[in-house]
Formats: sequence, C-alpha cells, structure tokens
Amino acid sequence: MAANFKFYNTLSRTVEDFVPRTEGEVSMYTCGPTVYHYAHIGNIRTYIMQDVLIKSLEYAGYKVKRVMNITDVGHLSSDADTGEDKMVAGAKREHKTVMEIAKFYTDAFFKDFDAVGNKRPDIVEPATNCIPEFIHMIEVLLEKGYAYVAGGNVYFDTSKLDDYYVFSSAVEKEQLEVGVRDDVEEDANKKNKTDFVLWFTKSKFEDQALKWDSPWGVGYPGWHIECSCISMKHLGEFIDIHCGGVDNIFPHHTNEIAQSESYLGHEWCKYWFHSNHLNDQSGKMSKSKGAILTVSLLKEKGYDPLVYRFFCLQSHYRKPLVFSFEALDQAAGAFNKLVKRIAELKEDGAVDTSVVSKYEDDFRDAVSGDLNTAMAITLLYDVLKADTNDATKLALVESFDKVLSLDLIAHAKASKEEVSVDPELEAFILDAIERRATAKKAKDFATADAIRQELLDKGVEIKDTREGVKWNLI
Ligand code: AMP
Ligand code: ZN
Repeated sequence: MAANFKFYNTLSRTVEDFVPRTEGEVSMYTCGPTVYHYAHIGNIRTYIMQDVLIKSLEYAGYKVKRVMNITDVGHLSSDADTGEDKMVAGAKREHKTVMEIAKFYTDAFFKDFDAVGNKRPDIVEPATNCIPEFIHMIEVLLEKGYAYVAGGNVYFDTSKLDDYYVFSSAVEKEQLEVGVRDDVEEDANKKNKTDFVLWFTKSKFEDQALKWDSPWGVGYPGWHIECSCISMKHLGEFIDIHCGGVDNIFPHHTNEIAQSESYLGHEWCKYWFHSNHLNDQSGKMSKSKGAILTVSLLKEKGYDPLVYRFFCLQSHYRKPLVFSFEALDQAAGAFNKLVKRIAELKEDGAVDTSVVSKYEDDFRDAVSGDLNTAMAITLLYDVLKADTNDATKLALVESFDKVLSLDLIAHAKASKEEVSVDPELEAFILDAIERRATAKKAKDFATADAIRQELLDKGVEIKDTREGVKWNLI
C-alpha cells in the first residue's frame, strides 16, 4: 500500500496530496530535450529532480511508468511560434543534416543524463516518429471546431476555451495578456494573439529539412502537439503527473492542456510538477547563449557527475539555484567527507530492523513531503551519528541511496581500496604520480602518458580531479 505523498501542483497552486487514478500506480509524462545542442547542467538539474520524484514515489510504494519525448522537429527559437526552427539552425551551424544533429545530441544528452544517476524513462519517443498521430489529433481538433486553417497553416483557436490561462493567478493572467499583446512578431493569420500553430505549411522556412505530407499540404508540426500525442500514444487518455521546468508552464504546457483536453473532451492530467531553474551568476542558463556548461565538461574538469547531483539535492526543487564552481567545490568536499565516513563503517553483525524502519519512515516522510531532499540528506548524516551498529547504518545508507542515487556504497568501497593497498604498491603509485606531475609541468606529455600506462599495467587507474590526482585499482 503506497504511503501519503505530497508535492506542489502548479494547477492548484498548492502542495497537494497525490492520489493517482489507479491505486499504487503512476503514469508520468516528462518533456524531453530539444536536441539541437548539448543539454546544459541546468537542463540536467530538471531531469535530476524528476528522477528524485520518480524514485521518491517508488520509495513510497508506487509503481511508476514514465514516457519522455525527444524534440527533433518543430521547436522554434521563440516558444511563441516565431523565429527559426532550432533543429534546422543547429544543422546549419554544424554543416550536418537535421537527423545527424538529432542523433548526436540525443546520445550526448543520455550520456550526461545517465552519469548523474538518473534512471532512463520506460519509453523515449522522438517527435519525428509520430507524425500520423499528430495529423490525426489536428484533424479531430478541426472537426470539433477548436482549430482553423489560415494562410495554409493550422492554428489552435484559444478563444474557444473558457480558461486558456489555466496555470495562472488573476494577476499573472493580466501580465500574460499584456505580454502576448506586446508580442512584436505578429502572425497576421492568427485570429487571437494566443492562438498557436498546430501544423505549418506556408512558413517562412523554405529550406525546412523535415517535411511530411498532410491534409493541409506538405509541412511540419508545431512544437506543442508532440507532447500531447506522444503521451496519449503510450499512456492513454489520462496521465497522473506531467513534468517540466518552470519555463514550460507558459506557453508549452498551457497549450498542451488546451489541445489535449479539447481533443479528449475531459480533464487530461491532474498534477503538474515544475522544477525551478539553475542560474549562473549572470542569469538563467540557456542553450542558445554561447558556451554551454555540460555534465561531461564538469567531468573533464575532474568533478564526479554525482557531486553535481549531490549539489542539486542540497536545495529544494522549487527554488532557483545559483551555480558557481565555488559552490560545486564545497559540495565536492562535503561529498568526499561523507563517502569517507561511510567507508569507515564495518559489517559488524546483525542489522537492527527496528532502527532501520524508524529511519526509513523519517526518510519516506521527507521525500514524500514535497521532495524535501535537503532533509533527506540531513537524515543520512543523522544515521551516521546514530546510536546503532555499523551494519544497521550501512543498510540505511543503501536504502536511502535508492532515492538519492549517489552510488555511496561503491564510492566508499573505492575509497577504501585506496587506503588498504599493499604499502609497496602504494609507494610505487605515489612516486609514479609525482613523476607524472613533474613530466606534465615540463610539458613532457609523452613521459606523462608512459607513466599512466606503467600504472595501468600494474592495474592502477588514475584520474585528474579538482582535488588532485586520484587512483583506484581496476
Ligand atoms: P529544452 O531542451 O530546452 O527543451 O529543455 C529541456 C528541459 O530543461 C525542459 O524541461 C526545460 O524546462 C528545462 N530547462 C531549461 N532551462 C533550464 C535551466 N536553466 N535550469 C533548469 N531547467 C531548465
Ligand atoms: Zn512537452
């Protein structure tokens, strides 16, 4: 039986008790990446918090099925149907085809997604796989009178809805309405400023690489339609939770609701989970803003990707988080200390199951209470200080790590190997590391590489990290 679970629902603007349609089961849809460039560490923050949501639900006893799309067509440089297609721009930038760009950045995305301890979605579906489903939904929306054809494109008619701005308070609605009125790039075909494109045919992009035949002519889908269709294709007419970053609330999720509920004729998704942004000191991180800081880049600089996850878990998902290398260094220091303390624990007897269940209950309460990840980590420290034996502590570390996914036991094991090695081998390793540092300083990279190989031949792998050279036995 699943326990009480609460989180902030953007639709009701309150922290609500979560009640899925089918007891014990959760159907979840998450907006995937637009694969025209690398996912930055901000995007990855969003996917880490979604992973924590899923694993917290599982910890509370739910079974979760999650679907995610890959946006490989239709997302224009402005979320409001204006500008250039991001995929086409990416292909031009790199002199590749759109599909080559999509494949390359989808792979890069999952490499970083995996590295921070995230579990893959049950189903991942690229938008370009589902064109017939998009066309079908648009046909039904036209039939039902929620859409119209103008200037060759198909638009959703937002004036047909009683409440288009479903996510917004009265004040926010006013601001959004003004914002939409001030939209500089006007599309004369739209009946209402908030109307959005379902299918483009007569667009300004003559060189649009991806085009499909449709009842309205050769063209391509708007951005929002893909999430509604991909969700319904795999999860049916109802979903329990829809996730995204806060920038998705308007217009993307607002438009998803408009078209999905008009198509279905009933409520589509009851709970909307939005996590806040990662900002750098100059403001919001963005893929289109020059140099992109990725998880892979952090790794190249010597940071363990799980240190980045640890950094994210220390703050609440609904608050903006400011990234700096100083803050990440602090997280790295704390993470290493934590790992060392876990490494000191010994398998010293029987696990005390009553202590385990008390702390597990507290941990479940923390993550089930609007994902209080900072509290969950505090509980981990409480366990390490607790008046119980090491075997019980180890059992709890393992248990909490089902949600935290910091790979704590494996890290502790690796750090133990560093200290329990044969003293002669250790002396050799330390000497080799020093010789390599001297060679590197003299820019004698051939010797430095030869020393790395010498160590590898003895079964020792070295890594350059922010905290110096680390080694482990392989
Ligand atoms: P995109 O690839 O731009 O479609 O974004 C992928 C996901 O990252 C979306 O759910 C966005 O809401 C989210 N996102 C975009 N920018 C940030 C940011 N600076 N911090 C956290 N999440 C972000
Ligand atoms: Zn989406």
